[in-house]
Amino acid sequence: MRCPFCEHTELRVIDSRAVQDGNSIRRRRECERCGRRFTTFERIEENLPMVVKKDGRREPFNREKLLNGLRLACRKRPVSTSQLESFVDSLERSLIAAGQREISSRSIGEKVMAGLRHIDQVAYIRFGSVYHAVEDVEAFGRLVTLLNHDGTGSDLQSSSDDQPKSDEGSS
Ligand SMILES: [Zn+2]
Repeated sequence: MRCPFCEHTELRVIDSRAVQDGNSIRRRRECERCGRRFTTFERIEENLPMVVKKDGRREPFNREKLLNGLRLACRKRPVSTSQLESFVDSLERSLIAAGQREISSRSIGEKVMAGLRHIDQVAYIRFGSVYHAVEDVEAFGRLVTLLNHDGTGSDLQSSSDDQPKSDEGSS
């Protein structure tokens, strides 16, 4: 990033705050050369905590991977894409509000499960059956994508036959 006045690249952040809609962060910056101040708006991902995987690796929070996994869990269920997107939006907002630099993939999975339970019971069970096996939201997306590409995962529910709570008819 460059100073819009003198194009100097050394900039100091003097204030950051979440914008009211929660989708971006407003930063007040000051140029170290000319001393002028200006405001930038940044997309939310840059301020999200790093996700600590089970094996200790760290990765940036990946909204698309999570959405992909949620869409697959909600396949053929009465859940709209915009419902899932606003769910992920609120998850991102809560992660930012918590202000942690790192979060375990397990904690994210638990938050996702807690939210999904209110959105759709079947999707919750589907997600949970795979998620608890891999303990990794992102791995869930990869796993389900893989199954679908193989053509063997057309019915996600079949992979959770051993789940005692998978009672679709009760909701
Ligand atoms: Zn400047």
